[in-house]
Amino acid sequence: MTWHILGAGSLGGLWAARLARAGLPVRLILRDAQRLAAYRAQGGLTLVEDGVARRYPIPAETPQHPAAIPRLLLACKAYDAEAAAAALAPRLGGHSDVVLLQNGLGSQDAVAARLASSRCILASSTEGAFRDGDFRVVFAGAGFTWLGDPRDPTPPAWLADLQAAAIPHGWSADILSRLWRKLALNCAINPLSVLYDCRNGALAGHAEEIADLCAELGRLLEACGRTEAALDLRDEVTRVIEATAGNFSSMHQDVARGRRTEIAYLLGHACAAAARRGLALPRLQALQRRLRAHLERRGLPLD
Ligand code: NAP
Repeated sequence: MTWHILGAGSLGGLWAARLARAGLPVRLILRDAQRLAAYRAQGGLTLVEDGVARRYPIPAETPQHPAAIPRLLLACKAYDAEAAAAALAPRLGGHSDVVLLQNGLGSQDAVAARLASSRCILASSTEGAFRDGDFRVVFAGAGFTWLGDPRDPTPPAWLADLQAAAIPHGWSADILSRLWRKLALNCAINPLSVLYDCRNGALAGHAEEIADLCAELGRLLEACGRTEAALDLRDEVTRVIEATAGNFSSMHQDVARGRRTEIAYLLGHACAAAARRGLALPRLQALQRRLRAHLERRGLPLD
């Protein structure tokens, strides 16, 4: 069965190249005829691994292509996911599987509402990739991808394809807790790295502020019924800061390059979830205000 992949960006390209070189049928779905022409002019998608570039001539199409899509990997940013899914809805039949690679929370529910008859499988990935040119992806960091379906614990048979393509992955019985945990880690690290304009390691100098944020995030996770995701949160934040000391967070990179962030699906989602439960989390809310003011000063979207 063909893997349709919407979004030939960093993660979409990384998945597409590995599936294609394992001999599996892959088709890329690009924004429009102009992007399709640009892609064809390049002769395919390039993946750079360990400094070695290799081009994969993966076939591509636009969302308007008439063929049915039995399996889709949605590999765009969280803020593009709902519209992208809606555009493909007529091509997704009743038994289609849709894998959602988006970071944070909120976009998955929006997509699932648009694709009521598809099975939506949620993913949480620690793999790292970036684009250093159009349709050119650099594999920057080994990682792992958890997949799961909050509505059905049965793993799909196509996990064998990921095995064949050497995509490190596991099936999670509680993918929502994993996504909440990652969201909490992100909320404790990424906004401060933007506000202090620093690499992750420099946040060790703001330990008290981070401890206070972790305490509030822990209360939020518990209020959301994600008690296990709250366990030892501060310790893990400290470990991540140490392990990624030399890196700029993804949010820092987005802001530095003048790109839209996924704030609405990370800190914004956390603050909205707290507000819905009448939970006062003053430090988290102050962090959101500071970050939004920072983005506004730079002319970047606040959602
Ligand atoms: P990215 O490099 O910006 O790629 C997104 C791609 O989606 C772009 O190629 C974009 O097309 C395409 N796209 C957007 N809307 C589209 C549409 N309607 N139709 C067709 N294509 C569309 O983003 P990314 O870094 O891969 O991130 C994807 C998600 O994975 C995010 O939620 C991110 O947080 C998460 N994630 C990323 C990494 C990483 O290392 N990159 C790691 C973990 C999680 P154009 O090229 O035309 O703009």
